[in-house]
Amino acid sequence: MSSMDVMQLIEKMGHEQLVFCQDSSLGLKAIIGIHNTKLGPALGGCRFWNYANTDEAVVDVLRLSRGMTYKAAISGLNLGGGKAVIMGDPAKLKSEAFFRRFGQFVESLSGRYITAEDVNMNVNDINQVASETKHVTGVTSRAGGSGDPSPFTALGVFQGIKASLKYRTGSDDLSRVKVAIQGCGSVGSKLAILLHKEGTSLILSDINSERAKTLCADLGAEYASPENIHKAPVDVYAPCALGGGINEKTISELETDIIAGAANNQLLDEKTDGARLKERKILYAPDYVINAGGLINVYHELLGYDKEKSTRDTMNIYNTLLEIYKLAEKNKQGTHEASNIIAERRIANA
Ligand code: NAD
Repeated sequence: MSSMDVMQLIEKMGHEQLVFCQDSSLGLKAIIGIHNTKLGPALGGCRFWNYANTDEAVVDVLRLSRGMTYKAAISGLNLGGGKAVIMGDPAKLKSEAFFRRFGQFVESLSGRYITAEDVNMNVNDINQVASETKHVTGVTSRAGGSGDPSPFTALGVFQGIKASLKYRTGSDDLSRVKVAIQGCGSVGSKLAILLHKEGTSLILSDINSERAKTLCADLGAEYASPENIHKAPVDVYAPCALGGGINEKTISELETDIIAGAANNQLLDEKTDGARLKERKILYAPDYVINAGGLINVYHELLGYDKEKSTRDTMNIYNTLLEIYKLAEKNKQGTHEASNIIAERRIANA
């Protein structure tokens, strides 16, 4: 991708700023994307990933940071959308000096971007980032920090599954349904435990098959291979791995009435895959709505952390989704489209 193409791309996607950061002495290569700050500072986690090349990292940070704008807007938060990606192998590069340097880059943006955990970034890493910047959330190293956001993300997805069942079947009784979970990491495993407590039948999968099989043994769940998990005949399919899993091929193979999971950017192509799901009458809980629990929790850290309030706001994902489903039905739209309209209206009115 040439520098000209990058400028065209950020213009097309509506980004305000894209910041490239590097320190060769530490092997640090990071990109910070600030999509929109109309509602507030751009908050979004930092993903550490071994991207094949810079183009792939640019596209990822642009998509993820734009998603954060919509997530904050639909969740009623006074935040903009941003995200950071660190390029490289986390196992080889992680060190205190590395994260402190990343923290200095975040600090240099003077609060226009606020960081937090994302894939391959844990609370210890974030605490090290916080040694160099106050523009960071999800920490445990200072008073009022909220720590790991994933329990709140899982709670929000749990509420979203209930709302989707209520809308589709008239009942949100989880003891009568079967749910397939793709990805048993931080969020997927916690979601499985919440559902298990309600008596839900579970089918679990992970590319780390030992991780999935151990959880299956603990919860009395069925195991499915990563190639087959989306084909399982279930009431709800919950993608909790990486993005792009809902596409032309998988949509034709799905045997579910509802998709409701944590992964970001689930639809490979928002427009065409959203239309395909609508055509197949599969109810889709827009990813950035149902997975907002973690963001809602770190937002509360900025307000003065109150776990009870944060829990209450996370549980409200149930009502937000019902509102979107009703609007989509009224306007004969896909649910993703309906959700975008509500979010864009809020930003326009800011
Ligand atoms: P994680 O890295 O802890 O877990 C992801 C799991 O998915 C891993 O166990 C991995 O082995 C597995 N996986 C990857 N590809 C797979 C595949 N094709 N099939 C089956 N399993 C696969 O990440 P996480 O924090 O649990 O987040 C999961 C998803 O939710 C990500 O897309 C993330 O961006 C999104 N999300 C997470 C949070 C949060 O609070 N952690 C918040 C919002 C959104």
